Amino acid sequence: MSATPETDAAPGAEILFLAEGELAGLVADLATAAVEVVGPAATEPASPAAAAADVLHGRPELEYRTLAPGVAPLLAPGMPRLSLKGFFLPQTEALFAWRQHGTEIEIERGEASARRRVALGVKPCDAAALEIVDHVMNWDFADQPWNERRVATTVFTLACPVEDGSCFCTAVGLAPDGTRGADGLFTPVEGGWLVEPSTEKGAAFVAEHAARFATASAALVDEGAEARRAANERVAGHLEIDAESVREWIAGHFDDPLLAGLGVRCHGCGTCASVCPTCHCFDIVDETDGVGKGTRRRSWDTCQTGKFTLHASGHNPRNDQNARFRQRLNHKFSIYPLRFGEVLCTGCGRCSRECHAGQDLVEMLAAIDVAARRPAAVGAETESGGPA
Ligand code: SF4
Ligand code: SF4
Repeated sequence: MSATPETDAAPGAEILFLAEGELAGLVADLATAAVEVVGPAATEPASPAAAAADVLHGRPELEYRTLAPGVAPLLAPGMPRLSLKGFFLPQTEALFAWRQHGTEIEIERGEASARRRVALGVKPCDAAALEIVDHVMNWDFADQPWNERRVATTVFTLACPVEDGSCFCTAVGLAPDGTRGADGLFTPVEGGWLVEPSTEKGAAFVAEHAARFATASAALVDEGAEARRAANERVAGHLEIDAESVREWIAGHFDDPLLAGLGVRCHGCGTCASVCPTCHCFDIVDETDGVGKGTRRRSWDTCQTGKFTLHASGHNPRNDQNARFRQRLNHKFSIYPLRFGEVLCTGCGRCSRECHAGQDLVEMLAAIDVAARRPAAVGAETESGGPA
């Protein structure tokens, strides 16, 4: 097994069809083969108000879950509140246990994390995040647990109808029917799903379960293509930015009041980082379990909290929330692109959707894009005889 994630190009397979009735059979086959299935499932409403909200929205809230053997994922519209990242970078995990014997240290690694699994019905923005985060997870150090889970997991995205106005995947070079970071795509059509593997791994998965799939008819292929075209058009209307201009503007305007004041409503709860598929910061602590023994654990962390950059001296280089929020934008749309060639954002919209302070990334990026393009606009006006 390779130690790094597979990102091979599509092998150009034919378009297949999985009938609704075959989905249960497919997950039963996977259960028989002891393959773990991860996919969207309805969240149990935590309160009468949450249940009422489900009724109001006409559908239950979803979450990605490791499904019980034989249970099918809910391949329906809806954005799981948390992204898929927790299945590759858990909220908290023991990296290893240690025990001291005099001057010797014995290390015991946590249980093997690389059980074979398939994730079905993943949002394209969540799958793309995996490949984007691969950069940093294999930058100056190869993150073994991340890579093992990536290699062990086959991911199929589900073409997204576009959830709401917070979605903007096309503005960051992605698409609601994308397969980046995935091994294939499911597209809902009458009576089932079109299935298109996009990597060798995806093709192997389909071949392994060939009896469940049929060749898609031309009418179904056309139906799927039209739905995907319409979804792309819808989301493209939410936001359009020039990513390179935005990156350059952020890099060159550190103290600009627009950038430095964007965090005015933010109070540092960190929700945006928790729900974000690309935020990947973690803290590592040693928890002692007794004399001379303990566990080294890593847990999600976020630059939005005051203690993230607090020095032991008491000095904090990001000592107010505006500075912390600027860092979030700076890292995602300027620093990461400079280092790895692409933004650290998939346009999933969760940070805007879930922020109870009303911090709206779509609005902010639109404002920065206008500021970034302003010199060009002024130049164009001057050239055409407009005001200088
Ligand atoms: S932007 Fe919103 S979600 Fe993120 S830390 Fe600030 S208040 Fe919390
Ligand atoms: S920054 Fe916001 S829109 Fe971008 S990937 Fe994270 S949660 Fe989604």
